[in-house]
Amino acid sequence: MQVAVFSTKPYDRRFLEAASLSQGHELVFFEARMGSETTVLASGFAAICVFVNDNLNETTLKKLADSGVRLIALRCAGFNNVDMKAAAELGMTVVRVPAYSPYAVAEHAIGLIMTLNRKIHRAHARVREGNFSINGLLGFDLHGSTVGIVGTGKIGEVMAQILTGFGCQLLAYDVAHNPNCEALGVKYVSLPSLLLASDIITLHCPLVPATYHMIDKSAITQMKPGVMLINTSRGGLIDTEAVIEGLKSRKIGYLGLDVYEQEEDLFFEDLSDTVIQDDIFGRLLTFPNVLITGHQAFFTETAMTKIAETTIANITDFEQGRSCPNQVTAQRIVSAKSSSSSQ
Ligand code: NAD
Repeated sequence: MQVAVFSTKPYDRRFLEAASLSQGHELVFFEARMGSETTVLASGFAAICVFVNDNLNETTLKKLADSGVRLIALRCAGFNNVDMKAAAELGMTVVRVPAYSPYAVAEHAIGLIMTLNRKIHRAHARVREGNFSINGLLGFDLHGSTVGIVGTGKIGEVMAQILTGFGCQLLAYDVAHNPNCEALGVKYVSLPSLLLASDIITLHCPLVPATYHMIDKSAITQMKPGVMLINTSRGGLIDTEAVIEGLKSRKIGYLGLDVYEQEEDLFFEDLSDTVIQDDIFGRLLTFPNVLITGHQAFFTETAMTKIAETTIANITDFEQGRSCPNQVTAQRIVSAKSSSSSQ
């Protein structure tokens, strides 16, 4: 079928075209992001393919439905950018890629931890300048340190596996216990207990109403002085202004981010010739103990191949009227909301 692909970068095109070869879909690529002003581009298409920062609110969905769009194929796991209630009312089908490579994201989170701890980014810059002083580069052994994993689904479980190899003590907080994590020796505790005892806190739960700003001023107050905070999940889990205060007071000793609440105005674009208008983001960049990557944790050859193959298979299922295992159903929304309210 004809599919309008939004927020396209050259790498999206490469992987989607390769995956579509045997399926015969006609993919039309747009660099533009999907939002209420770009719905006109989808006119005449029954299916659109979107990514994390495309905004599918009620207004956008109504315009899309009016122009004949019936399928929204997310090429990502999270669906927090789609008004699912509106989509259901408009009779639109929403599919996603629930799993591609939890290793990609977990390995990136580990990269942030290692780099922040041993200050590898700063050491590299020094050595390039001929500065071989190690003053200020002091780290700590990960072995024996306590890591709190918030959300022990697919990515959190891989984090637990890797960190077990490092010899860390593992605590976890989740609304559901993962037996594979328990078998690794992960100890499930309440969120306040995890905040209190962890040297490193790493977030791997989805952004749902109950997790919005779960790391706020009150949560930061409960943390160990000098804690390392890692977020490769969704920016909205963190109240960035509270985190900046935590960094200024030295309560937070290290911050590693791959996601940012206002990232849709920044990430995935080359803005190196422009003046960044987001002062909160600008402040984050001034700290020597903050490391930010632009939502690239998923970005491996393995993950991109799987994302493209699953997206194309989802579209084929829809075209052929088959039930799709990756459809986001009303049931799934209800369970996300009820797990949120059970906190
Ligand atoms: P998953 O669904 O396998 O696991 C999520 C876990 O969070 C589950 O165990 C669930 O029970 C738990 N959870 C749900 N509500 C919770 C709550 N209120 N409090 C605590 N825990 C809660 O998801 P996953 O594949 O492990 O992905 C985790 C998140 O990582 C995704 O939601 C997505 O936002 C993010 N992600 C980021 C990237 C990236 O490139 N940075 C890529 C993929 C996924």
